[in-house]
Amino acid sequence: MIDLRSDTVTRPTPAMRQAMFEAEVGDDVYGEDPTVNRLEQRAAEIAGKEAALFVPTGTMGNTIGLQILTEHGQEVICDSRAHLLDWELSMLAWFSGCLVRAIPTEYGILTWDDMKELVKPVGPHWAPTGAIEIENTHNMAGGRVYPQEIIDDICDHAHELGVPVHMDGARLFNAAETAGLPVSRIVAKVDTVMFCLSKALGAPAGSMLAGPRKLIAKGRLLRKRLGGGMRQSGILAAAGLIALEESPKALSVDHANARYIGERLAAMEGIHVNPVETNIVIFDVSGACRVPRELSVVLKVRGVLMNGVNDKLMRAVTHYDVTREQCAEAMDALEQVLRS
Ligand SMILES: *Cc1c(COP(=O)(O)O)cnc(C)c1O
Repeated sequence: MIDLRSDTVTRPTPAMRQAMFEAEVGDDVYGEDPTVNRLEQRAAEIAGKEAALFVPTGTMGNTIGLQILTEHGQEVICDSRAHLLDWELSMLAWFSGCLVRAIPTEYGILTWDDMKELVKPVGPHWAPTGAIEIENTHNMAGGRVYPQEIIDDICDHAHELGVPVHMDGARLFNAAETAGLPVSRIVAKVDTVMFCLSKALGAPAGSMLAGPRKLIAKGRLLRKRLGGGMRQSGILAAAGLIALEESPKALSVDHANARYIGERLAAMEGIHVNPVETNIVIFDVSGACRVPRELSVVLKVRGVLMNGVNDKLMRAVTHYDVTREQCAEAMDALEQVLRS
């Protein structure tokens, strides 16, 4: 099977499996797992933040990240197709007691102009703004990368008003690859950032939440509350360390493969492709009079796994477990299906 459903489907590399086998471990709830401690330290260094916390999933990282920045009854501003809003079981409401103030955007990239009228202080009638959330790369907009000056501008203005900024950087390393900037530069001004080891970087599980030491210490308690106190999690952290050090070097290959898929799709009649900037390709099949659900079924018969994101759009995600040849085969299969 050629699996283009997501970059979460990667299997750990031989180096990761070896590191997991040899990992030095302890009880992380007592802070005694040396491998987890090493991972948290490296992640903090790479993000240029005081501290980092190893969490089982990106959803937990975003949940904790926003809980430590907000109070019950506040609002969080984000884009209307944010992962936080559509794919995280309303954890922001359920756990943090906050409302989402969603802003529609064409390509998932918010600017200060989009939100400045919506940032609210404490008042007699409304929910004050507790935080701003930005997603980089933006998943549902097709892996779009925030221009650095826009991130910095949002942070500068928000901070002037005392509003913190959280970045959902599930694919932050993909953003760094395309922007040609170190991760630490991209997140220099945001207060907290979550990034996944289990997406494009290929670790079997785990994400990192980085930020100020005091807030991350608070986050450690929230992680326990949410059931994320994982004991000998150095087994997972060992793979995470390899993901952090080795995987970013290979992301340009995934990006080139995604651009190739984008070019092939653009040449197919009735298909409209979003611009491809990283490893996610979002394309509209409605112009070819097709529905994603049906296409997924017929593609599967031909050995290709690809999902729809709604009634019009499909998503293909490249990762280190698909080669250029497999991307070509997948596009040949789609071409044949569309012609039949
Ligand atoms: C996958 C993803 C998450 C959540 O990660 P999980 O590990 O699946 O919980 C958060 N944000 C974005 C943009 C994602 O793509």
